Amino acid sequence: MRTVYVNGDYVPETEARVSIFDRGFLMADGVYEVTSILGGKLIDFEGHAVRLQRSLDELEMRSPISKDDLLEVHRELVRVNDIDEGMIYLQITRGAPGDRDFAFPDPETTTPTIVLFTQNKPGLADSPAAKKGMKVISIEDIRWGRRDIKTVQLLYPSMGKMMAKKVGADDAWMIEDGYVTEGTSNNAYIVKGNKIITRALSNDILHGITRAAVLRFAQEAQMEVEERNFTIDEAKEADEAFITSASTFVMPVVEIDGIALGDGMPGRVAPRLREIYLEESLKAAV
Ligand code: PMP
Repeated sequence: MRTVYVNGDYVPETEARVSIFDRGFLMADGVYEVTSILGGKLIDFEGHAVRLQRSLDELEMRSPISKDDLLEVHRELVRVNDIDEGMIYLQITRGAPGDRDFAFPDPETTTPTIVLFTQNKPGLADSPAAKKGMKVISIEDIRWGRRDIKTVQLLYPSMGKMMAKKVGADDAWMIEDGYVTEGTSNNAYIVKGNKIITRALSNDILHGITRAAVLRFAQEAQMEVEERNFTIDEAKEADEAFITSASTFVMPVVEIDGIALGDGMPGRVAPRLREIYLEESLKAAV
């Protein structure tokens, strides 16, 4: 049985308790992070910790834990659960006032709730899906306007994933005003010639930690990166496409709305970027 962390305590998962008045539960008033573990070490902990703080700041929520202590909790959970490859999920909510109310509770009397748990995923890095590539469909992006804040408000992304599954695809890319924003739980890219094209950062998309690393590695490898909007039609005519996220790293996309890209197999750029990303991130893992 997993050992999880809840509000300062390490407990067996069946004994972890959160109040029914918790604002994460009632209002999706919470933020989260997912950090990957490879070789028993954390990938880009610093990036996730910085983005967590930014999400909290944007929602005027206090952090219940310091960055140093947060790192210790991550490490302890990896250790006690004996995780070699997998993820750590972290969630902080505005806490549990004594009742349901739209107004934020007084932060002096209602402390944030913090929960962390591990997900054991042996073979995460050497995934067969990365060799085959994935299929995506396009759906309308009807999410709220602050997608840069990593909130637990994930119902539409979850529905998008189900729309994809229903038609035999793996995920959905979301479209707003004709342009691709991002995947349901990942950032989206296309490749034209030697150019990697991805939407620029704004409130419209999550500022992916993997995105930042991959774009940096791509530039260091002399690949050309263009941060701009692209349409789904442009994507269907691209040489390659791929996604990035902390749990999938770099994953080739080989089909969009039933249209195969190139020969329908992963191309040159995405698999190479995956290789570089895994290699460099492992070197810097803590
Ligand atoms: N966009 C969305 C909507 C996401 O949910 C995620 C992952 N949670 C990402 C992008 C990728 O971010 P990261 O690389 O930090 O995992």
